[in-house]
Amino acid sequence: LGTPLYNDSRTPAAGIKGTSQERTFIAVKPDGVQRALVGDIIKRFEARGYKLVGLKLTVPSKSLAEKHYADLRTKPFFNGLVDYMTNGKAPVVAMVWEGKDVIRQGRRMLGATNPLEAAPGTIRADYCTSIGRNIIHGSDSFESALTEITLWFNENELADWTPSNAEWVTA
Ligand code: ADP
Repeated sequence: LGTPLYNDSRTPAAGIKGTSQERTFIAVKPDGVQRALVGDIIKRFEARGYKLVGLKLTVPSKSLAEKHYADLRTKPFFNGLVDYMTNGKAPVVAMVWEGKDVIRQGRRMLGATNPLEAAPGTIRADYCTSIGRNIIHGSDSFESALTEITLWFNENELADWTPSNAEWVTA
C-alpha cells in the first residue's frame, strides 16, 4: 500500500522539457476506445521508441473534463465535447509518454485537429473524418503537458523505469 513506483532520482511528474525525459499527455478518447484503436495508437508510440510511464482506463468526471478543456469553455461545441468525454458510453485511455521532443512529435503523429486537414499517415487521417470525433488528444505545449499530466494522474501512478533498449534508442 502506498509503495512508490520510483526512487528519489525520479523524473518529475511533468518530465524535463527539451530532454529525453520530456513527457506529454496523450488520451484515446471514447470514440477511439469504441473503435478498438487503443492497441494501434500505443503501438505507434512504442515503435517510435517512446516510453510509456502512465496508463489508465477512466471515465473522467465532468469537472475534470471541464478543467482539461477550460480554454474552450466559450465555444459552441463545449458542452457536447464535455458530454462525449464523460458520459461513460466508453472510457478514456489516459497515458503519459516520455522521450525526445515527445510533445511536438506526439502532435505530429496525431495530425491536425480537423481530420480532413490531417496529413495521410497520421493517426487522425488514418482513422477518422470528423472534428467532433477525432479519437485522440495530445498536449500542445510543455505548459499544457504539465497541467494535463497533473490533472489526470497522481504522482504515484507514474512509473519511472529504464527500458533495456535505451542505449539503442537514445544517444
Ligand atoms: P486539439 O485536440 O487538436 O488540441 P483543440 O484544442 O482546438 O484541438 O480542440 C479540442 C477538441 O475539441 C478537439 O480535439 C475536438 O475533439 C473538439 N473540437 C474542436 N473544434 C471542434 C468543432 N468545431 N466541433 C466539434 N468539436 C470540436
